[in-house]
Amino acid sequence: MRNIYDMTKEELEEYFIKEEGKKFRATQIYEYLYKKRIDDVEKMTNISKESRKKIKENFSFDKIKLLVKQEDKLVKKYLFELEDKESIESVVMFHDYGTSICVSSQVGCNMGCRFCESGRLKKRRNLKAYEMVEQILLIEKDIQKRISHVVIMGIGEPFDNYDNVMRFIKIINTGKGIDIGSRHITVSTCGIIPGIEKFMNEPYQVNLAISLHAPTNEIRNQIMPINKAYPLEKLIPTVKKYFSKTNRRITFEYILLRNINDHEEDAYNLVKLIKGINCYVNLIPYNETENIIYKRSKSVQITKFYDILKKNGINVTIRKEFGSKVDAACGQLRAGNK
Ligand code: SAH
Repeated sequence: MRNIYDMTKEELEEYFIKEEGKKFRATQIYEYLYKKRIDDVEKMTNISKESRKKIKENFSFDKIKLLVKQEDKLVKKYLFELEDKESIESVVMFHDYGTSICVSSQVGCNMGCRFCESGRLKKRRNLKAYEMVEQILLIEKDIQKRISHVVIMGIGEPFDNYDNVMRFIKIINTGKGIDIGSRHITVSTCGIIPGIEKFMNEPYQVNLAISLHAPTNEIRNQIMPINKAYPLEKLIPTVKKYFSKTNRRITFEYILLRNINDHEEDAYNLVKLIKGINCYVNLIPYNETENIIYKRSKSVQITKFYDILKKNGINVTIRKEFGSKVDAACGQLRAGNK
């Protein structure tokens, strides 16, 4: 049985046209599910009894289950259990400009980035779109607030689960639904080139972030094995092509790891690599985790790195820290509860 939260509005329209010749039912259902947040078909009272019965026969309304919550003033972190007992994490952050959620896209991850806690668990499966949609629904219910921004930056590699992630984006972007504007949605990839190629042809104005983390193949190969398949001399031209096609500014994420990629020379190499690209660099102070040897760069080094980029005309910010008190480094909550 299909989960109702996995259905795009167009698919529901097709269903209702076929079942009862009434396309507008799809709008009604979307409003019940996403505006009124009603998940009991019996309470969808302006839908006929006969139609309600069929909906119940054809769709499941099951939800993922909230297992653990950790909270701090500006951040809450959630562990959810899926129907097959696998678990995933999401994080919600309260900013001055709104509330953002960091959504997981897979159970585990196969990319093997050496510094990343979630990569220590190999991918067990892709998440279905409804399992991503429900992360938003359950968290909004918990915080009693509307989420304004979605980043697909939790556990998993979104471009290794391309179709479900696109379906998820379509569902949350739909008017009369959760209705999150595409400019408020960001997909983050470790640099899977075929995914970027496909993504630049999608009709959405969704932001793209690339986890770059190194200015040379030598360093990137060391910390991100995916670089061997998609090295910088291929990745960077793809990013340029993405910009010329979409006109959307790209974000490069760069975790600063002490003595690995945080030397002044690395900053200059980074400038060389991305100079001329319409981009924005987000420097991320590394969240240390128990099982991984990498250390966070010293603050003076972070500042030096930042200054070099800035002086050389790169748009750069240092990511504000939210998570360290609540184990919000990727994968930490799951790791601690398994
Ligand atoms: N696979 C995607 C999205 C998930 S990772 C990607 O690679 O972009 C989301 C971001 O968190 C990535 O930039 C990742 O490199 C970063 N990250 C992973 N572990 C981290 C840690 N311990 N501290 C800070 N950032 C981390």
